[in-house]
Amino acid sequence: MKVQNLIVGAGLAGITLAERLANVKKQEVLLLDRRPHIGGNAYDYDDGGILVHQYGTHIFHTNDEKVWKYLTSFSRFYPYMHQVKAFVEGKLIPVPFNLNALYKCFPPLMAQNLESILLKSYPYGTKVSILEIRKNPQLEVLSTYIYEKIFLHYTLKQWQCSPDELDLSVFERVPVSISRDDGYFYDRFQGIPMEGYTKMCEKMLDNPLITLKLECDYRDIKDKIECERIFYSGAIDEFFDYELGELPYRSLKFDFIRFEKPYFQSCAVVNYPNHFDYTRIGEYKYFLDVQTPHTIVSFEYPKAWSRGQERYYPVPNVQSEAIYQAYVERAKELKNVHFIGRLGEYRYYDMDKVVKRALEVFENLP
Ligand code: FAD
Ligand code: UDP
Repeated sequence: MKVQNLIVGAGLAGITLAERLANVKKQEVLLLDRRPHIGGNAYDYDDGGILVHQYGTHIFHTNDEKVWKYLTSFSRFYPYMHQVKAFVEGKLIPVPFNLNALYKCFPPLMAQNLESILLKSYPYGTKVSILEIRKNPQLEVLSTYIYEKIFLHYTLKQWQCSPDELDLSVFERVPVSISRDDGYFYDRFQGIPMEGYTKMCEKMLDNPLITLKLECDYRDIKDKIECERIFYSGAIDEFFDYELGELPYRSLKFDFIRFEKPYFQSCAVVNYPNHFDYTRIGEYKYFLDVQTPHTIVSFEYPKAWSRGQERYYPVPNVQSEAIYQAYVERAKELKNVHFIGRLGEYRYYDMDKVVKRALEVFENLP
């Protein structure tokens, strides 16, 4: 079989490239995915009027106007602003930890005192990593509290290692917020595709130049296909048959439960840093504010990854970066293979970064 462009993986990375190659360059594309659906980890499906995200809650957020304009040309977005609470010492407090959380966790006079030290150290409205606040001796009581009650045990569950063993960027995703803003993300553009991610992806692929093959693993067809170039959004170490070592990943297990009552919890996501084996519970009807007599939630259990299981997270640390860089060097020997996406680039990318990078790869094509 002969094809001009072969794209491995029908997640947002592969779909963005397929769309651009077909609609802009008018080229033929064969898009493969070993799963039975498109959308990758952003895949969602309708369950009685509620759009459920099969691989965990997905909220689109970006500061990148170009990415926002690109995706909103395929779907309108519902202006959902994400909020997360954490169950800490019997209370639900806002995450990221902020000045509202401070007053929920400490007695009023102590909270006032801590707030004034915080505001002398960091201007109102800034975001500061917990690892940075831990260096401030005046804030030792507060930083120890936040570190232990919010980060330490969640991180041990999620990554099976302590925070010091991970790249700082993991914790910068959820900085302490020196403000009263209870939002989870601070980006200019946020929302959920009105008809869901899967419908948005279908629209992106709506071009007869694109052939989609689901339940098809690249490893099973690679010797039977001739192509001018490959865009590969699977795991880079798997592509090279692990010849330079195995990259570490984390996996997840989701338990979906339907309750015959309108709501289960008071916001879309509640984190459980210190209790239970799961890290968080997501409740899907909040995203599009649907009114249904039932609700659907997912309990999210972190899991070790081994070959054959879904890779949900790369593990950012010094050791994994060294292995990844060795694969980057190895990849330079191949002239017609582009590694894209969260697994192809082994980066803890959110959806907007995946789309941004895919657009850049497209723009740099000869
Ligand atoms: P993927 O979506 O992983 O797609 C890769 C595809 O390649 C998969 O479908 C896979 O089956 C296929 N594939 C791999 N190998 C092969 C092969 N050999 N042959 C054929 N097919 C193959 N981002 C946000 O912006 N907001 C969020 O709220 C958010 N929440 C998240 C929650 C969780 C639990 C997780 C795990 C991620 C979350 N993300 C979120 C990140 C988001 O899922 C990713 O950024 C994005 O989906 C990655 O797209 P991708 O195309 O790179 O990879
Ligand atoms: N984190 C934490 N407690 C929380 C929220 C996040 O310790 O209540 C840490 C944890 O290590 C997590 C990381 O911050 O893996 C990134 O959190 P984020 O919510 O961005 O994770 P994702 O949504 O990507 O799973």
